[in-house]
Amino acid sequence: MTTRTREIHLKSRPTGVPTREAFALVETTLAPVAAGQILVRNTWMSVDPYMRGRMVDRKSYIAPFALDAALDGAAVGIVEQSADPAFAIGDHVVHFAGWREHVVLDGGSATRIATDGIAPQTYLGALGFPGLTAYVGLVRIAQARAGETIFVSAASGAVGSTVAQIAKLLGLRVVASVGSRDKAAWLLNEVGVDAVINYREETDLAGALAQAAPEGIDIYFDNVGGEHLEAALAVANDHARFVLCGMIAGYNAESGARGPGNIFLAIEKRIHLQGLIASDHVALFPEFTAVMSDWIRQGKVKLRETVHDGLESAPDAFIGLFKGANTGKMLVRL
Ligand code: NAP
Repeated sequence: MTTRTREIHLKSRPTGVPTREAFALVETTLAPVAAGQILVRNTWMSVDPYMRGRMVDRKSYIAPFALDAALDGAAVGIVEQSADPAFAIGDHVVHFAGWREHVVLDGGSATRIATDGIAPQTYLGALGFPGLTAYVGLVRIAQARAGETIFVSAASGAVGSTVAQIAKLLGLRVVASVGSRDKAAWLLNEVGVDAVINYREETDLAGALAQAAPEGIDIYFDNVGGEHLEAALAVANDHARFVLCGMIAGYNAESGARGPGNIFLAIEKRIHLQGLIASDHVALFPEFTAVMSDWIRQGKVKLRETVHDGLESAPDAFIGLFKGANTGKMLVRL
């Protein structure tokens, strides 16, 4: 039996901020399910900033997207046909074939997820790669300790809001940076961070950070790069640890983004700068899933989502990431 479905293809490689013209909604027929395979109806898909890098044809830690082929990325769905004894019809699974409504997968490329008390789409956010990124960055790379001060940028997003919440649970003082008053209010009043900077309202980011963190910062969790990284270098304490997670301020730059003008401070202050690629740490998923599921069930980590409806809205959801359109995890409900 074959299945008709719809998927989003990359039609052209964008320059600058992507527009809808780079994407095409395509109807296709899937091959029948063979032995060892499952047919999944996707219910939620993730859009993530790293996908912008995959739209450029260059060598990186992950292959570029092909033109005129379905994009991919994390998604969750329900098994509708199974020729793999490890999966039953109705199982909820997470996998990497997003940007489409149905997919036929080898059973080995899907993972069954527990949905008792946890919404399936959480496996794309706090219980998925964004959550793992926050956990690894804080616990393994920064080795965060109670009493320290952390600065986190893009702090109301999927990774940043998880960093802020885990850091509070670990007993740190959290200074957050965001791009709107609503996001600042959410972080202060509901997430419970100690200070927030709205970078869009500051002409002197380093000055604002020095005011928000008079004791300096011990850890910088960088999701943004650019001026945020310069401000963090200026205010860092000696021997601070910088988790270089993302530099979204430069992802749409049409010529190479410039590095921080004050990088020499990394020498003077003996700062430890370490890059992080979450997929290097998948072996930590069992430990992370157990800890994070408990925090979520106990209400210690709060979940926030911005939801677009329908596969055709996926390009807008993705483009919205670069305009600050999301609070919490940006998701598409299919
Ligand atoms: P997200 O924070 O949920 O969404 C992106 C947010 O970035 C936007 O909501 C916006 O919030 C902010 N932003 C966009 N353009 C900006 C700019 N020019 N300057 C400052 N802020 C800007 O996305 P996410 O999935 O959690 O990812 C956050 C960062 O982590 C990204 O840089 C991503 O590439 C990185 N990441 C890295 C790894 C890894 O393994 N290294 C894994 C996951 C994510 P505002 O309204 O606050 O501007």
